[in-house]
Amino acid sequence: MTAELLQRVKDFTEAELTGKDEYFDGLPEQPTAEASRLHEAGLANWWIPHRYGGAGLSLEDSVDVVSELSYGDAGFAFGAFLPVLGSIMLQHFGDEELARPALEALAVGGGRVAVLGSEEEAGSELVRTATTFRTKGDQLVLTGEKYFSTNTDAAGLLLVLARSSEDADFAIIAVPRDTPGVEVIKRWDLLGLRSAGTYRVRFDDCAVPAANRLRGSGLRVLEASLNASRILIAACAVGIARRIRDLAMEYATAKPLRGAPLSGNAVFAGKLGQMETSIDVMRNQCRAAAAELDGLLAAADSGGTDLHRVGTLRSALAAKLYCGQAGWDIASTGSELFGGLGYTRDHPIGKLVRDMRYVAIVEGGEDIMRDLIYTRFVVPARKRR
Ligand SMILES: Cc1cc2nc3c(=O)[nH]c(=O)nc-3n(C[C@H](O)[C@H](O)[C@H](O)COP(=O)(O)OP(=O)(O)OC[C@H]3O[C@@H](n4cnc5c(N)ncnc54)[C@H](O)[C@@H]3O)c2cc1C
Repeated sequence: MTAELLQRVKDFTEAELTGKDEYFDGLPEQPTAEASRLHEAGLANWWIPHRYGGAGLSLEDSVDVVSELSYGDAGFAFGAFLPVLGSIMLQHFGDEELARPALEALAVGGGRVAVLGSEEEAGSELVRTATTFRTKGDQLVLTGEKYFSTNTDAAGLLLVLARSSEDADFAIIAVPRDTPGVEVIKRWDLLGLRSAGTYRVRFDDCAVPAANRLRGSGLRVLEASLNASRILIAACAVGIARRIRDLAMEYATAKPLRGAPLSGNAVFAGKLGQMETSIDVMRNQCRAAAAELDGLLAAADSGGTDLHRVGTLRSALAAKLYCGQAGWDIASTGSELFGGLGYTRDHPIGKLVRDMRYVAIVEGGEDIMRDLIYTRFVVPARKRR
């Protein structure tokens, strides 16, 4: 990425996000004014390829963009980068007539696309998906309920995982947000990421053209595309951790302990040294996973690698699992470091702890990450390294 673009992201973060913790923590209306200003600054949906009118940044570059945005506010960053999941689905599994206008709209209009997979009884066990589709003439008709979906109310297009009402076929189907029968039931009152909009949504006999179905098995399409958003969720932990580090240094420089600033204390130095090391390893794992995925996506673009076959990447699973754990350790150290002040709403650490928690939960919890790594990369001896 050009240094100039990263500088623009940093400038945006400083001007629009950092220090507005109370506002972002207050469940602001969607889409936020800051999301519109990200678009005005030419930074929304920065990964959309040049041929669709986007800035065409790689995922490896996106790790740094997300680290910057989440330094300011993780909920804002989550809402801004999550459309990468739907974009990859459209670009690699959608027919050109469906994908091109949708991707151009994201690049030019700065809007959002939402992905609706999880249900009340089918979060990690997506084979239990109960939302169905049936064929009616040249249309597909969807019925069901999705428990969690981020960006749905602000999105122009919803990509919905559904199973056939007739057989065991799963599909991802593109449903325009204004399709009759799409109903947002509620917005979740989240513990963290409160500036992102996450909703419960119902589909009641929603009819769309049969051409709105993406190619391939819906479960596999989702799995392959989740690599990108899982890496960027992990990158969010890097940004939150960097903010905790900087707040800790600011506090310790001003806080006297035994006649000297806390920042000169050896115990404090050890904590910050450990934090910095974890941040480096987190960032490196995110970049390595993103570079691997960039290579696969480029090959898939030129008709080479079959993303559908590759499925989930061990590097992406490792990034999400490790960043969730190391990030949580940093948040925990941070929450103790500010003394009593850190246990009040006058200090942002409480929000940062709540924001950090999501890294280990959303798009698969730690047990799921470990289970996937074990079953895909340890049990088959040829996959071990
Ligand atoms: C803020 C937020 C935004 C979200 N946005 C979206 C979105 O845009 N689109 C979308 O589709 N979903 C979204 N989700 C859903 C999210 O991805 C799921 O909640 C998450 O994957 C966890 O799934 P689950 O809630 O079904 O819990 P589960 O994964 O079922 O976990 C429940 C319990 O079961 C245990 N468990 C699960 N699997 C295993 C296993 N293999 N071995 C042992 N124990 C296991 C877990 O450890 C846990 O204790 C969002 C959720 C949140 C909170």
